[in-house]
Amino acid sequence: MVKAIVGANWGDEGKGKITDVLAQESDIVIRFQGGSNAGHTIINNYGKFALHQLPSGVFHQHILNIIGNGVAFSVENFVKEMKSLEERGVPKPNIVVSDRAQIVMPYHVAFDCYEEERLGKNSFGSTKSGIAPFYSDKYSKIGFQVNELFDDVDSLKAKIVHALEIKNATLRNLYNKPEITVDEIFNKLMEYKEALAPYVADTFSIVYEAVKAGKNILLEGQLGALKDTDFGIYPMVTSSNTIAGYGAVGAGIPPYEIKEVVTVVKAYSSAVGAGEFVSEIFGEEADELRRRGGDGGEYGATTGRPRRMGWLDLVATRYGCRVQGTTTVAFTVLDVLGYLDEIPVCVGYELDGKVIDYFPSTTKLKRCKPVLKVLPGWKCDISNIKKYEDLPENCRNYIEFAEKEIGIKIGMVSNGPSRDHIIYR
Ligand code: GDP
Repeated sequence: MVKAIVGANWGDEGKGKITDVLAQESDIVIRFQGGSNAGHTIINNYGKFALHQLPSGVFHQHILNIIGNGVAFSVENFVKEMKSLEERGVPKPNIVVSDRAQIVMPYHVAFDCYEEERLGKNSFGSTKSGIAPFYSDKYSKIGFQVNELFDDVDSLKAKIVHALEIKNATLRNLYNKPEITVDEIFNKLMEYKEALAPYVADTFSIVYEAVKAGKNILLEGQLGALKDTDFGIYPMVTSSNTIAGYGAVGAGIPPYEIKEVVTVVKAYSSAVGAGEFVSEIFGEEADELRRRGGDGGEYGATTGRPRRMGWLDLVATRYGCRVQGTTTVAFTVLDVLGYLDEIPVCVGYELDGKVIDYFPSTTKLKRCKPVLKVLPGWKCDISNIKKYEDLPENCRNYIEFAEKEIGIKIGMVSNGPSRDHIIYR
């Protein structure tokens, strides 16, 4: 059975934790999109980890972890994260990398930085991990698939020459930066080849056989629906599709095999980078939520930047869940809201004097103002509660109100950062 775990919002919904919880019953965990531009935070017996490139199944010995063909694969981060797991006593994970995955080149990171610098105050708020230049090159067909590292030297060098003609013209004329040499890139790729050799596999065939054998496969999404290239707040989106449907492409699975889509919804909102965020809050109200949020505050797992904060946006969340094709919602970080007397939630958008209940495309979204409804708080710590019926009444009402507005069952409630902070309904 294939299950996807994805986000309904702007990312940072707590997918890493939910993946870690559900991974225990999985045979295979696959990353299918994105790169090391976002991080999953996982807390387990080995400690607290921020994974950027590795799938969240790496802490379980029985799981085969796969970096799928749809990923923006940073060899450097892969090596760094594998090393840090080893240093912290995690047994060597079982992991393979698709021979069709493409590599984040050293110049992709540089181009990401140069472009953000060039855009100045209009920058995207990129994590500068090279993701946008990477996907541009992939679709311009000047990217490098992992299998090309193992090609004959002449073919690989010819490909580098071809790619660098374009890169160097841009470096020279647009960014006014030093050019890159063929040898520099070739040597780097040879380092990558050596580091990757033990992990490269024809993951399409592995996944094909696993699906046929009825194995439990988990597709691990990164970021959220509102950052999807097509369905998100374009152009302030990420450069890959974050929706579960893309799992079919980025992992190599027949679309009809993805039977369950667990969409992670955060009990309040947070976002990093620029872009539309209708239920955003500011000032002391935002600072307090940021300070208390997540596990030790709402600061980016990749960049350490303070996240933008807001109330639960049910218009955006309903849309995010629909776009994902959600079968079950996992509602997270609910414990954080225990300090509030009253909790506003966004139930509609005011657009040009009318209230709408759908999530419009960006040009209209820019003009939307939140319509808030205030729900009573529960004013206590719920993190030790294990059963749904033991939650305070106002807390259950908050969950059930969200469920009704989203229109999909909330099957799991996460009431703390660690694995056992989970309530099934
Ligand atoms: P992801 O990218 O969706 O995996 O999200 P993050 O890794 O950024 O997770 C958000 C933060 O919330 C992390 O620090 C998690 O440890 C933390 N977290 C996840 N679920 C919960 C929860 O239910 N309660 C609390 N307090 N923190 C949580």
